[in-house]
Amino acid sequence: MIPFLDLCAHHAPVRDGLCRAMSRVLDSGQFAGGPVVEDFEKHFAQFCGTQHAVGVGSGTEALWLALLACGIQPGDEVILPPNTFIATAEAVLWCGARPVFADVDERTCLLDPAAVEAAITSRTRALIPVHLFGSTAPMDELQEIAARHGLQVIEDACQAHGAEYRGRRAGSLGRAGCFSFYPGKNLGALGEAGAVVTDDPEVAERIRCLRDHGQSAKYHHQHLGWNGRMDALQAAILLIKLRRLSACNQLRRSHARCYLRQLQSIDNVRPVDCPADCLPVHHLFPICTARREALLKALRRRRIGHGIHYPVPLHLQPALESLGHRAGEFPVAERLAGQLLSLPMYPELNQSQIEEVCGVISAVCAHRRAA
Ligand SMILES: *Cc1c(COP(=O)(O)O)cnc(C)c1O
Repeated sequence: MIPFLDLCAHHAPVRDGLCRAMSRVLDSGQFAGGPVVEDFEKHFAQFCGTQHAVGVGSGTEALWLALLACGIQPGDEVILPPNTFIATAEAVLWCGARPVFADVDERTCLLDPAAVEAAITSRTRALIPVHLFGSTAPMDELQEIAARHGLQVIEDACQAHGAEYRGRRAGSLGRAGCFSFYPGKNLGALGEAGAVVTDDPEVAERIRCLRDHGQSAKYHHQHLGWNGRMDALQAAILLIKLRRLSACNQLRRSHARCYLRQLQSIDNVRPVDCPADCLPVHHLFPICTARREALLKALRRRRIGHGIHYPVPLHLQPALESLGHRAGEFPVAERLAGQLLSLPMYPELNQSQIEEVCGVISAVCAHRRAA
């Protein structure tokens, strides 16, 4: 049996440190915001290479508050890919704005700059590149388009903690970068948490205000806000786990190389490409195959964990029906939804487990080529 993700194994080496950190928070009596959250924000901003980080309640909230802080309003249009977690679109809709989808590149699954350009209208205000699976979107091309049309760029870096684009960290590339610390992410809390990073002091200040009920002073509410504060317990846990993040990302890259070596000799299977100018962090390790059903069956039989990210593109989700889309509008995203399959990927995975997974894939999909 190989799990899809093994959080118990992941936490085992730092268990004592996590328990001590939780004890300290318990003794401090401060649980919502406070100095531990500020300490985490300082270290996470440093990690991302930005001036500011603002801790919030989740990645979804990070996206929503970042869009609000960047001035996204009802009637605005925001461009995003259809092959992402629904939170990216929810954040746009809860601002009262309209999500406008642009199709993605077949090999990388990341936003296609030409499709973005074609989706721009007079109402477009912002663009959300999603650094899906831990690889950065083509930011130079996207930023050039954004600059030419006066659009803001807000990164969905929820799957890309520590990923780099041309030497710069994900989250530091646009006006604001949004992170989730959901337990299964590369940097995960023991519960829900998120953050927005930015170099823009006004954006940081607006999010600090919005996450605390729009207060300018205690019980003086300047703006309509929300309760979006980060838990001190989660901040204390994240501070400890942040120290190991780079080493864990290295391990993920090494596992990805191991997968790639073994998969290259198997027909009918194509690993998702990582763009050349990106240092990926492999939040997930998806392959593309027309034999997904047979492979799913074999993986289930061998009790090998797997996932599908994502089975239904956003434009075909019933929850977003009011946007009025039909099947066939975003053919690449639709094809990928039918063919992607995520294999086990986490720092604690080992070589023999990867060999076992690839053995099952080979038995189902190949036709081995002569060496
Ligand atoms: C996880 C994720 C989110 C949402 O984060 P939560 O912390 O679960 O709210 C948003 N976008 C993407 C791409 C994600 O993977």
